Amino acid sequence: MLAEVSNISQKEGESSVSGNLPDFGVAVVGAGPYGLSAVAHLRAIKGSDNRIFGRPMSFWKEHMPRGMFLRSPLEGSNLSDPEGKLTLQAYAQTDGGHLSSPLPLKRFVDYGCWFQKQMASDIDGRTVSCVEHDGTYFRLTMEDGKKVTSARVVVAGGIVPFAYRPPQFQRLPSELASHSCEHRDLREFAGKRVMVVGGGQSALESSALLHEAGADVRVVIREPEIHWTWQRPWLHTFKPVGRLLYAPPDVGPAGISHVVAAPGWFRRLPRRLQNRWAKRSIRPTGAGWLKPRLQCVTMSSGRSVLGAAAVGDKLQVRLDDGSEESVDHLLMATGYKVDISKYDFLGRDLLARVRTVSGYPMLSKGFECSLSGLHFLGAPAAWSFGPLMRFVAGADFATRRLAHYVSTRRSFRPE
Ligand SMILES: Cc1cc2nc3c(=O)[nH]c(=O)nc-3n(C[C@H](O)[C@H](O)[C@H](O)COP(=O)(O)OP(=O)(O)OC[C@H]3O[C@@H](n4cnc5c(N)ncnc54)[C@H](O)[C@@H]3O)c2cc1C
Repeated sequence: MLAEVSNISQKEGESSVSGNLPDFGVAVVGAGPYGLSAVAHLRAIKGSDNRIFGRPMSFWKEHMPRGMFLRSPLEGSNLSDPEGKLTLQAYAQTDGGHLSSPLPLKRFVDYGCWFQKQMASDIDGRTVSCVEHDGTYFRLTMEDGKKVTSARVVVAGGIVPFAYRPPQFQRLPSELASHSCEHRDLREFAGKRVMVVGGGQSALESSALLHEAGADVRVVIREPEIHWTWQRPWLHTFKPVGRLLYAPPDVGPAGISHVVAAPGWFRRLPRRLQNRWAKRSIRPTGAGWLKPRLQCVTMSSGRSVLGAAAVGDKLQVRLDDGSEESVDHLLMATGYKVDISKYDFLGRDLLARVRTVSGYPMLSKGFECSLSGLHFLGAPAAWSFGPLMRFVAGADFATRRLAHYVSTRRSFRPE
């Protein structure tokens, strides 16, 4: 049944910033899996009036390497809609195609765009360059300078601004050292000598793709050994055993995976246990299916890169065993560290009103932060709801909660 809310927004008008009513009840910033799922659920609220901003699936289209496969299983890669109809399976049926596992990146991007067309065909593809709060409503400035107002804002901006570059690489020229999120096609490194730093899925899959593209690759991994998932696939897929050990999103180790899959419960655990299980659930791992593709790649575990310096058009890299190596490029597959102050579209005054812990906003049950009416989805919600929020699979829980919360307010007006 549709929940009803009173609609306090006026008809859309882009310059109504001085009017009494906002242009929208809810503005969703970002059109990745979380933003698209959010708008799908918000639209099921009777009388709701919302708008989603951003280029659909742009992170997956522009910041992930061509040829990549998803690490998450098919069951853990669905976006969320109220009736649970717009699944990967439903998408595959529309084009008569087969869904293979692991799922190719391109197929997932196409699925996201298909979902967007069904749920948000009126998407506004502009980037939001600034979000401020004028004391009553949020004011959003678009990339073209136009402004809209909204009673609530849902930030679903993803992780690109959080890309972590270790301090020893920060001053290196980008032609010689770059973060993995800066590359769409690793074939640009064919015939080059490339050092990959990191031991997670991104590092290992980038290394496989680089090797297959004809680069000479060495991976430097800080941990003493590489952790592989799906070493014994039947433990995950043989239903009676698999279901007992791993919840369908398959995030986290056996057993703990079930608690991670229930963010409402996860959030009730003592903080120390939450931190321990979160760390364990997202430690750097590689999917078992990558192993054969890495057989000819040099992998040095238990090693760190101490520093690097540009020498002509090469990079001289120093390792912690005293050795040095000259490479054409260093690829940082060093992950992402959430810090919402790096969302450059959030105004300084607005940010000052958001209570945070280590860069994460502290969120209520409705994913609302300490500034009433402002919500965060995706990785920034991981401190409040656990590691599932870093994965597509968390979108179902998050966006149902968000929509329920919004629908139970008397109006879209924050209290
Ligand atoms: C290499 C790699 C592989 C991954 N593989 C998996 C996987 O297999 N399974 C999985 O579940 N997760 C995977 N992840 C994690 C993945 O990033 C998240 O699951 C997913 O992207 C979360 O969706 P999101 O909507 O929060 O963020 P995103 O997908 O990043 O979407 C955010 C969107 O917001 C847009 N945006 C940002 N700022 C603005 C603005 N100011 N105005 C308008 N739009 C804006 C961005 O352009 C982007 O399109 C992977 C991550 C990486 C880096």
